[in-house]
Amino acid sequence: MSSTAHEAPPWLRPRAAYVHIPFCAHKCGYCDFASLAGADHLADRYLDALERETAAKLGEPHEVDTIFIGGGTPTRLEAPALERLARMVAHWLPLAEGGEWTVEANPGTLDAAKADVLAAAGVNRVSLGAQSFQPRLLAALERNHAPEEVGRAVAIVRDRFPRWSLDLIFGVPGSNIDDWKADLDATLALDPSHLSCYGLVYEKGTALWKQLQRGEVEPVVEDVEREMYELVMDRLEQAGLHLYEISNYARPGHESRHNLVYWANDAYWGLGLGAAEYVEGTRTVNTRDMQAYLKRIEAGESATGPNERLGPEERARETAMLMLRRTILGIDRADFRLRTGYDLDTLLGPVIVRFVGEGLLEDDGRRVRLTHEGRFLADRVLCEVV
Ligand code: SF4
Repeated sequence: MSSTAHEAPPWLRPRAAYVHIPFCAHKCGYCDFASLAGADHLADRYLDALERETAAKLGEPHEVDTIFIGGGTPTRLEAPALERLARMVAHWLPLAEGGEWTVEANPGTLDAAKADVLAAAGVNRVSLGAQSFQPRLLAALERNHAPEEVGRAVAIVRDRFPRWSLDLIFGVPGSNIDDWKADLDATLALDPSHLSCYGLVYEKGTALWKQLQRGEVEPVVEDVEREMYELVMDRLEQAGLHLYEISNYARPGHESRHNLVYWANDAYWGLGLGAAEYVEGTRTVNTRDMQAYLKRIEAGESATGPNERLGPEERARETAMLMLRRTILGIDRADFRLRTGYDLDTLLGPVIVRFVGEGLLEDDGRRVRLTHEGRFLADRVLCEVV
């Protein structure tokens, strides 16, 4: 029987689920996700394990408002495997009326047959990893799709899904402002209603990080990266795409509801290799080791690592930090009190006053938000809040 009862508020009892599909055609140079190249032969076994993990964790189907199937590259699965995955997810996590079901796709691995499978299953949003439209920059990121494949994938997606999004990366080594302008022009020509634009991060242990350590790549200097961020905010705002989170832009009504769950610090299930979840105030993360994941699930064990249960004050601070990422909503004092039991000013009054004085936060008495300048120095503000 499907459970639709709202037993507890959404910050304790999940109304959202993340499902991880780790397979990729190859490993991109900057990638720090739980993703594997050359492991496609494990797809069926992985889906068996995923179903087993889901059944053990949920016990019975649970209605959710948002589902996000990410990776890895979910569309790396062949169409029949994708169909099996979608059926399994639809069974265990029935989507509430008006819910959002997103699947991440790589322009090089999405074709019409796979898109048809997803649309028929009820997927209503696709997030495409474009990253750049410059062959030279795609090569620097070690992406394995060509720029023209993005347009082809968008054409497939636009015909089948009511909502879709593109991911872009700025600050790629060897890039300049003109490259970024060209990327934004190419992006806007496709008329997306949602964009995620992240500054490149050299994650420790990645191929790109090793190249940086060896002096083989030169990072974009901070001033240029700031100019790139300024440019994307201006250009997208002019195009009607509003910055609603530090790195995310949408036309009104096209914000990612799933990501808004994370930024409200609401609960969510996490299923699959390396998946994180937050349920009843406890955070857990599954192992990122594929063999360990398979063996543990097949032995009827849990694949999670150590739990982290935050105390009430830590959870309140973390909620404030996540809510501040939301550039339009920010922290609403009444909502914050309802969710955490804490008065925002008792908890963070001096920090807020100081950053308002420095021009990094604005406070209208009801909400506290990052200012325009605060978006550039968000890391500093968020760190202090936690
Ligand atoms: S496609 Fe995405 S998940 Fe896969 S290796 Fe590249 S960045 Fe990582």
